[in-house]
Amino acid sequence: MSSKTEQDRKIRPEVLKTDLEKNGLNISRCRTCKPGSTLKNKTGGWRNFRPVYIYEKCTKCGICEMVCPDMSVKPREDGFFEYDYDYCKGCGVCANECPADAIEMVLEEK
Ligand code: SF4
Ligand code: SF4
Repeated sequence: MSSKTEQDRKIRPEVLKTDLEKNGLNISRCRTCKPGSTLKNKTGGWRNFRPVYIYEKCTKCGICEMVCPDMSVKPREDGFFEYDYDYCKGCGVCANECPADAIEMVLEEK
């Protein structure tokens, strides 16, 4: 017999049901909205702001590369970094975390 703690961990289907599911759409079997592939879909088109390096300030610490959630920061042979704008979504995390204030977020021209 399972303990109360194990029982509590079980997912109760009624909790997970969304309005769509309640109306008969089985989300779990839906094949329309599968997880996306950012390599296939160039997500840079969503961007409103574009990060730009100020190389004179950059200390080549690599933090921007580590924190980018989209792996859009690429190392260059000279130790600096560059952006892959096809996939950068302009979230600004790299600019926020840069200790040298060497990344500026500029409004994207559409
Ligand atoms: S986080 Fe800033 S200082 Fe560090 S490598 Fe990136 S741009 Fe340069
Ligand atoms: S703005 Fe966001 S997605 Fe673009 S390079 Fe910086 S951390 Fe990555």
